[in-house]
Amino acid sequence: MKKMYRRILHFTITAAFLLGCLLSAPVPASASNPDPMEVHFIDVGQGDATFITCGGHTMLIDAGDDTKGTAIQNYLKKQKISKLDYLILTHPDADHIGGAPVIITKFNIDKVFVSNYEKDNQTYRKLIQSLDEKQIKALTPKVNSVYSLGTASITILAPGKEYDNPNDASIALLLKNGSRSFLFTGDAGEEAEQDMLETGITISADVYKVGHHGSKYSTSKDFLEAVNPFYAVISCGTDNSYGHPHAQTLNTLRTNGVMVYRTDEEGTIIASTDGKSISFNVPASETWKAGEPTGGTNELTYVLNVKTKKFHKPSCNSLPTANRQDSSESRESIIAQGYTPCQRCKP
Ligand SMILES: [Zn+2]
Ligand SMILES: [Zn+2]
Repeated sequence: MKKMYRRILHFTITAAFLLGCLLSAPVPASASNPDPMEVHFIDVGQGDATFITCGGHTMLIDAGDDTKGTAIQNYLKKQKISKLDYLILTHPDADHIGGAPVIITKFNIDKVFVSNYEKDNQTYRKLIQSLDEKQIKALTPKVNSVYSLGTASITILAPGKEYDNPNDASIALLLKNGSRSFLFTGDAGEEAEQDMLETGITISADVYKVGHHGSKYSTSKDFLEAVNPFYAVISCGTDNSYGHPHAQTLNTLRTNGVMVYRTDEEGTIIASTDGKSISFNVPASETWKAGEPTGGTNELTYVLNVKTKKFHKPSCNSLPTANRQDSSESRESIIAQGYTPCQRCKP
């Protein structure tokens, strides 16, 4: 019922907008006549890669893991893209930056944005190396700064400070073309979502790219209410070992009447907008099927608290709620990173 109401409301808003355009005085070209914009949520399995084109200008947000760089390169080539205006790497986790060195090597890129969180591992070093080789200086954009992509604007929402958890340090942005907007938050968790709310910057969006692949550590109720999207897109791998998307997140979306699209079920998803209405290349998913954590290659071995530097068995009954990071690494390598075993579960 609520969903039906929202659809009618959406239609009414669109109709009112069109009528408004007919009646109102001339306005600047960019506002009255937005370039067509396409947002491609590329199916990269477990990870993120979103390609955006607006009036011949292009942007890639994240580049999947290191096995997906060439696939993304081919996808962009198929779109006849040789140059990117922006490459935005939301945060330094492997499922977001792994494929980036291929993109940086193969394309001319105007601006590269990275999180303020640096990692000391091979994936991150490869990224830095590829940037150095192309003599590109990556920068962390400031909160509230605005960039343009054709007639579209990109407003930076995060990170506004430094975080202990790389997910929370994700670059978040609102992409707006005409009167239609898309929200991207990388893997930002609840704490970072709260910080975004506190900036006071408008985060309401028609399309919400669901934070952290639909994990339960993102998309808090307050945050989703402020975003108030009509559509949500979840980028995750089929039967991924993390159990994305989580039932709780799907439930929050469902009870808010949001239409959900999923790369694990539907492959690459393309949203198109003329700045007034939005259409998708596939129908919304109606499965509401939650992921189940499984013992795949990325099996969860330990749960880390990145602040206290303690590590736990996943079955421990005093797992951290904040500053939590799931690990699939061995006990030895976790200890080598300076973690000490929890006193209770004695991992
Ligand atoms: Zn991720
Ligand atoms: Zn992450």
